[in-house]
Amino acid sequence: MEQSLLKIQELKKYFPIRKGLFKKQIGIAKVVDDISFNIGKGEVVGLIGESGAGKSILLQTIALLRQPTEGKVVFNGQDLADCSKKELKKIRKQMQLIPQDHQNSLHPRMTIREILKEPLKIHGIGSKDEKERKARELLELVELESNYLNRFPHQLSGGQKQRVAIARALALRPELILCDEPVSALDVSIQAQILNLFMDLQKQFGLSYLFVAQDLAVLRQISYHILVLYLGKFIEIGLDGIIYENPLHPYTKTFLDASPSIKKNIYEGERIPITWGDVPTPLDPPAGCAFHPRCNQAIEICQKVEPKLEKVNEKHFVACHRVNE
Ligand code: SF4
Repeated sequence: MEQSLLKIQELKKYFPIRKGLFKKQIGIAKVVDDISFNIGKGEVVGLIGESGAGKSILLQTIALLRQPTEGKVVFNGQDLADCSKKELKKIRKQMQLIPQDHQNSLHPRMTIREILKEPLKIHGIGSKDEKERKARELLELVELESNYLNRFPHQLSGGQKQRVAIARALALRPELILCDEPVSALDVSIQAQILNLFMDLQKQFGLSYLFVAQDLAVLRQISYHILVLYLGKFIEIGLDGIIYENPLHPYTKTFLDASPSIKKNIYEGERIPITWGDVPTPLDPPAGCAFHPRCNQAIEICQKVEPKLEKVNEKHFVACHRVNE
């Protein structure tokens, strides 16, 4: 990978589960459990997993919107746990989050002008005229006319709202953008336009993205490094496109099954159906391999022993007892 921009070390985010009048703790939900990875400068890393895998909580914990239970978030060489409030404010400028619910993430009573100027106001950047100029520049960057400045979010389409959310994330010229399923709610044709916009901006500004999706075909357009998350843990990591050509974990293969374009053009391996059912809850995860109740490759050991994320080669890591068969 390139020179490290973001380094995540053994990150955990646990939630105590309480019940009753006296809020007695009855358990712990391990929503993010021992996660480590790096993102280099100018690099795009894709993160995939079903709803309930812990993707949003992971991003919010990295962005320090939630306090980690354990582990380190190191940005540009600085451990965020050791930073003063002033240093954290500076880092928040450099690391922006585009939240999943872009339909509701824009304040309904603010005009697009006010929404785009808000981060500049918070960080005390620019005079009144400079803020106005910047708001116009940001709209231009995301290919919207300046007459949108006077509109309210409800007057915009889903794709236009997402363009505004991207413009707002760019207002402070960040180095890293954490993109939480930014195209999932959009029509396929609009998805392609927004993905192209993400890629153009990435090249133009040398941005790094941690880009979340539930669709491998979407990730393939933007990233060759893929992290696969299941119940708060990585179960497969592949660099340089290896996941698209040679996925090894049965769970990852199901995402390829759901992506006909990759299935047809790249991956020629065996198809392994799973029993979809619901994602197990992190409150009471299955023993052994957390995927075993849904995996038709499961053998006896899978129900008892949790597989560790093992190195297959320099570019590929998998947590499955049957990876070498
Ligand atoms: Fe399936 Fe067993 Fe591999 Fe888990 S460890 S993915 S249950 S084969």
